[in-house]
Amino acid sequence: MALSGGMDSTGLLIHLLAKGYTVSCISYEYGQKHRIELERAVANIEYLKDNGFNIEHKIADLSSAMSLFHSALTSDDVEIPEGHYEEEQMKATVVPNRNAIFASILYGYALSVALRENTDVEIALGVHSGDHAIYPDCRPEFYESIGNAFAVGNWDSEKVKFNLPYIDGDKETILRDALISCQKMNLDFDTVFANTNTSYNPDKNGRASGTSGADIERILAFHAIGRKDPVEYVKPWNEVLTGALKAQLRFHVMKENGTERPFTGEYDKHFDEGKYYCADCDKLLFSSDAKFDSGCGWPAFSKEVEDADITQLKDTSYGMIRIEVRCSGCDSHLGHLFHESKGPRYCINSICLNFRGD
Ligand SMILES: [Zn+2]
Repeated sequence: MALSGGMDSTGLLIHLLAKGYTVSCISYEYGQKHRIELERAVANIEYLKDNGFNIEHKIADLSSAMSLFHSALTSDDVEIPEGHYEEEQMKATVVPNRNAIFASILYGYALSVALRENTDVEIALGVHSGDHAIYPDCRPEFYESIGNAFAVGNWDSEKVKFNLPYIDGDKETILRDALISCQKMNLDFDTVFANTNTSYNPDKNGRASGTSGADIERILAFHAIGRKDPVEYVKPWNEVLTGALKAQLRFHVMKENGTERPFTGEYDKHFDEGKYYCADCDKLLFSSDAKFDSGCGWPAFSKEVEDADITQLKDTSYGMIRIEVRCSGCDSHLGHLFHESKGPRYCINSICLNFRGD
């Protein structure tokens, strides 16, 4: 299996050990800015060794070949983007053709072990559906195709099969599975996952910001299983979690046309003097002069600022005819516009706005 030192492959390792497999791991050095993941992988292999599990672990150095590639993960001149995992900008964290290269090396290694020991070998990978949207090389059809190509191109390929236990699951699935496996083998779940790194931009002490898309997905997975993430973040866990939940809600409202619950938004009862900007692209949308208390549970404005140029669309969802309003800067959903007897009311989700005082 490929052991990146992230939580998915670490969960996979624990899963395979609990199933009784003899496991060989390859980790890749490819010039990643988050090289700390390799140190954590080594620490986990040590921890498992201390607990009676002897695991073959090799680190393959691909940094020279992969320094030719362009990606925010490896190039110093490209910054790691922040935000929700599925957003367009997160595509900067794709390393071109990465999994094809990794799978290719794994296949050669698996076939070598199969021939050396005259045994069947499975190539296990921790890919899951949460990765599919951004990383096309995590999709099941990719592994099916590449597996076929490897089989066509090698003698004795019947000895090697792919094993992708989480392909239909997500990060939460992996953690729940790891909890059971750790219990079964008497391993400490927190130690195992403290020895992982998910952040693409850890600080010099190895602490994650908690704000990159991958961080947010991880934080929400730990929250979903009711546990605190044992890795260190720059900020305390409750702040990190609040930020991740906010990022999740913001994505849901702005990119999936969702609505925040009434009377919960930060700006519903907020009447300071200042300006409201799009939370995604920072376009100036509203001024406090036009803000009023509509009593409906969401921030209300009687007009948009000049040049906001907010897009109006007819919305017939939920059996109503409404006017949906979207930011003209980034096409994110903001809320709705109602024409009432007192005049226009822009009913806007707080999570779509950032306020800056005058
Ligand atoms: Zn915008």
